[in-house]
Amino acid sequence: MSAKLLLGIDVGSTTSKAVLLDGGGRRLGSRLAPTGHAPRAVAARLREELLNEAASTEGARAVATGYGRAMVEDADRTVTEITCHARGVRHLHPDARTVVDIGGQDSKVIRLGAGGLVQDFAMNDRCAAGTGAFLDVIAARFGLTLDDLAGLHSKRPAPLEVSSTCVVFAETEVVNLISQGHELDDVLAGVHRAIARRVAASVEQLGAAEPIYFSGGVALNETVRRELELALEKPVKRCTDPQFTAAWGAALLAAD
Ligand code: ADP
Repeated sequence: MSAKLLLGIDVGSTTSKAVLLDGGGRRLGSRLAPTGHAPRAVAARLREELLNEAASTEGARAVATGYGRAMVEDADRTVTEITCHARGVRHLHPDARTVVDIGGQDSKVIRLGAGGLVQDFAMNDRCAAGTGAFLDVIAARFGLTLDDLAGLHSKRPAPLEVSSTCVVFAETEVVNLISQGHELDDVLAGVHRAIARRVAASVEQLGAAEPIYFSGGVALNETVRRELELALEKPVKRCTDPQFTAAWGAALLAAD
């Protein structure tokens, strides 16, 4: 790696993430912020905050990724999220053969060959009920934080069935279950199971090789991870700092 500083910026549909590495690939810092309605300004702020912490910004190189990657000013190039996720996971977890990424608005399954190159992938950006958006809507509806949801340890043997594939209908379905007298924990367990099953179906379709690693913001939710394991009947490991995986990959790609 010849550049002194490597910056990866992932402008996601929900959250923007940035990672700064030194020329040897060691992390100097990372930042995240809601993308909101001003992705260009958010990306510029994250970049500035990280570079301000560095002693010198001479020779810094930046790669932008994510849904809003075209909004990143001063990026040396843009790279797709699939490539960045694969690169980040390959660096952090060299044994990974499948990556499941669940973000705020889409989910992806990526199969990696030996050496970490992308062999095949599947992306779902049609059904929000299989993404973090569903959890965000449900948390807001019931006045819960994402940490409340992530910490849900359902010991319930039979979470309730939530079958709608559209978040708006799924929210109505959840509200109806509550109004029928079902306990919130049972309903929430059903929400987590519904997301995991939807994504597990894509994993199975692609033919997931093990080990499977879970990345993206929703990987912070332990209940979704466990439900994925149950649905797949295979271990699913959480990536290190899962929400930053694509930004890591982008920073590493800045060295090329
Ligand atoms: P994107 O790149 O599409 O913006 P991310 O990979 O950043 O998506 O993931 C965003 C999603 O992560 C949110 O929709 C939210 O559901 C989930 N999330 C973020 N923080 C947490 C947390 N602390 N616990 C559980 N889930 C979280």
